[in-house]
Amino acid sequence: MKKMLVTGGAGFLGSHLVKSLLLNDHKVVVIDNLQTGSLENLEDVQNDSNFEFIESDITSDFYIEVDGIFNLACPASPPQYQKNPINTVTTNFLGSLNVLNLAAKLDVPIFQASTSEVYGDPNQSPQKEEYWGNVNPIGIRSCYDEGKRVAETLFFDYHRELSVEIKVARIFNTYGPNMALDDGRVVTNFIASALSGHPITIYGDGLQTRSFCYVSDLIDGILKLYFSPPEVTGPINLGTDIEISVSSLAKLIIKMTNSNSEIAYLPLPGDDPRQRRPDLTKAHSLLNFRPKVSLEAGLGATIAYIESRL
Ligand code: NAD
Ligand code: UDP
Repeated sequence: MKKMLVTGGAGFLGSHLVKSLLLNDHKVVVIDNLQTGSLENLEDVQNDSNFEFIESDITSDFYIEVDGIFNLACPASPPQYQKNPINTVTTNFLGSLNVLNLAAKLDVPIFQASTSEVYGDPNQSPQKEEYWGNVNPIGIRSCYDEGKRVAETLFFDYHRELSVEIKVARIFNTYGPNMALDDGRVVTNFIASALSGHPITIYGDGLQTRSFCYVSDLIDGILKLYFSPPEVTGPINLGTDIEISVSSLAKLIIKMTNSNSEIAYLPLPGDDPRQRRPDLTKAHSLLNFRPKVSLEAGLGATIAYIESRL
């Protein structure tokens, strides 16, 4: 039985990953500072003898004996990571340094939750891993985008210099149950507004696109990458390649929730990417990763979750 460390394990993706690891007969220890995560996300495993929770911040140095590390700690929603940008960039730099030092000391593999944001506002679509991106280094999204970019740099330097086994995934927009209802991301905002009859807030003209992956597919991709041969380091795109505009997403959610909500147009936040769609060739060929859940099915499950929480 292997013991895995999941940083950020009380968050949206982390909580699903923890449950999958426990189901696959691993022991799991979570380190989370509960900045955007919640113990409610881990309620059903809190009494599992193979599970341990430590409330702590990865920017403080720590030592814990484990057989593998998944580094997910970092707020992912733009309004959340922009609330305290210095903290966001510190989590990405100092936090990554701490988990990498631990991986090097213990000689264990380490997974990094990187992001499509490393491509910035891309001028290539779909985005391939070889594309270096178009990122503003001093804008309001930079604490996250540049933070995740420097984290990738650290991961690859620890791999080259200290032979640490790394697994870097560039995750595209993922949604599903356990997202915080008030964290400000588009899927939760639209569903919560549609269900409560509040206006659905579209930022800008709504023609910007994203590709939305359901959480079970993403977790399958993370596990496939983590358990792939050591030479598969990434970076590797994970997500779905079905692109939809923010306007079309709003219409679909209004239809699926039978909502009377109106649409309100608000200003587009700074540096908001116009388009985002992964090239999944590597994920298909190296990991046999093929997302299965349709947007309608995934939204159905997410609507049911949010309805139960409102
Ligand atoms: P989330 O905000 O729900 O979860 C992040 C978790 O990390 C929270 O539980 C939070 O409390 C914890 N955390 C934040 N800073 C910490 C720190 N310094 N020390 C300890 N814990 C800390 O976000 P999520 O959607 O679950 O994202 C998880 C990871 O995946 C993040 O690294 C994010 O950048 C990455 N990612 C997510 C998406 C997505 O669409 N969900 C896309 C790309 C990348
Ligand atoms: N968005 C929107 N209304 C909202 C929340 C977000 O129109 O209430 C837009 C946002 O400007 C972006 C897209 O939806 O273009 C996706 O936003 P999200 O915050 O979910 O993630 P991002 O992909 O920007 O990191």
